[in-house]
Amino acid sequence: MKGYAMLGIGKSGWIEKERPACGPLDAICKPLAIAICTSDIHTVFEGAIGDRHDMILGHECTAEVVEVGSEVKDFKPGDRVLVPAITPDWNSLEAQAGFQQHSNGMLAGWKFSNFKDGVFSEFFHVNDADGNLAHLPENIDPVTGTILSDMVPTGFHGVELADVQFGDDVLVVGIGPVGLMAVAGCNFRGAARIIAVGTRPVCREVATKYGATDFIGYKDGSISEQVLKMTNGKGVDKVVIAGGTVDTFDEAVKALKPGGRIGSVNYLGKGDYINISRTDWGCGMGNKNICGGLMPGGRLRMEKLGALVSSGKLDLKPMVTHVFDGWDHVEEALFLMKDKPADLIKPVVKIED
Ligand code: NDP
Ligand code: ZN
Repeated sequence: MKGYAMLGIGKSGWIEKERPACGPLDAICKPLAIAICTSDIHTVFEGAIGDRHDMILGHECTAEVVEVGSEVKDFKPGDRVLVPAITPDWNSLEAQAGFQQHSNGMLAGWKFSNFKDGVFSEFFHVNDADGNLAHLPENIDPVTGTILSDMVPTGFHGVELADVQFGDDVLVVGIGPVGLMAVAGCNFRGAARIIAVGTRPVCREVATKYGATDFIGYKDGSISEQVLKMTNGKGVDKVVIAGGTVDTFDEAVKALKPGGRIGSVNYLGKGDYINISRTDWGCGMGNKNICGGLMPGGRLRMEKLGALVSSGKLDLKPMVTHVFDGWDHVEEALFLMKDKPADLIKPVVKIED
């Protein structure tokens, strides 16, 4: 089979591989549509998880099941499915502890294009099909459905990590596709004010639809100074970080009220350490909590978030700005995500209707 792969740090291209084998609990699927993620860019072009050779890329797609193992109960060949980017081992101790995304090791629930081949391939393997796949609701088209693999669950996880509550003032740093879903998640959770950080006009427009109330630009000076000015020196109750660098944490701590919480889902591709100001962190006693996480993954979360979309409460159509037709356009879509033109939110490649 053909797959679009990371050949080494900074290099990507098409390769040929054996079709993966299906274990008793597994499924083999073929993509209906695939989406490119900023994480694919960190992985290939920044070497963020280290070097990988001939590893098929991609972890966002909708798919059709082509084969299932003998123990799989709820899925059969021909079923159309939502595929989460994170596919935990549900029988692990970490999953029993409630951190399935780290099942059998830190970040090890993130298997596609990390520990095994990803989904930019004619066929791909899904471990624990009953625990990880979800049926694609009939009123969600495969292109839009790709946004459920990672953008919705990750953006919402940032909101969960920050523990956003009714009436909170929240700072959302980054309004790429992940940050936009964080804005939508804050709005669902009843945030009063949602201050969004990002410059791309298309992202600002969509952020407003999802509930952003104010905007600031990280290119217009310090984020925290702008936030403190807007909040009469008080700062915000919560911060969700979905963009920026290792230096963003210091800005977030400075912008946060004592007792506040930072939920970060940013994938830090560069830098060895995160430095935060000792005094702005209350000399270690400010009750300013910092929490960084990988989205949990799995079937239940996919079903619940899919229901939010199929019920019409969450409109994902504005998230997909570029749609390509066919495998030949994967590389073009990947480089578009790398270059981030002003009109881009998310590029999706349609493989089959
Ligand atoms: P984008 O690159 O599309 O968006 C990043 C956003 O951050 C943009 O709004 C950008 O602004 C803004 N930004 C850029 N630089 C800075 C800065 N120095 N300070 C503040 N804001 C800045 O990324 P995505 O939305 O696709 O992804 C966001 C992050 O989430 C990525 O790191 C991605 O790898 C990660 N991720 C994490 C997952 C998890 O489970 N934890 C899963 C999936 C993704 P501008 O408008 O100017 O471009
Ligand atoms: Zn992703």
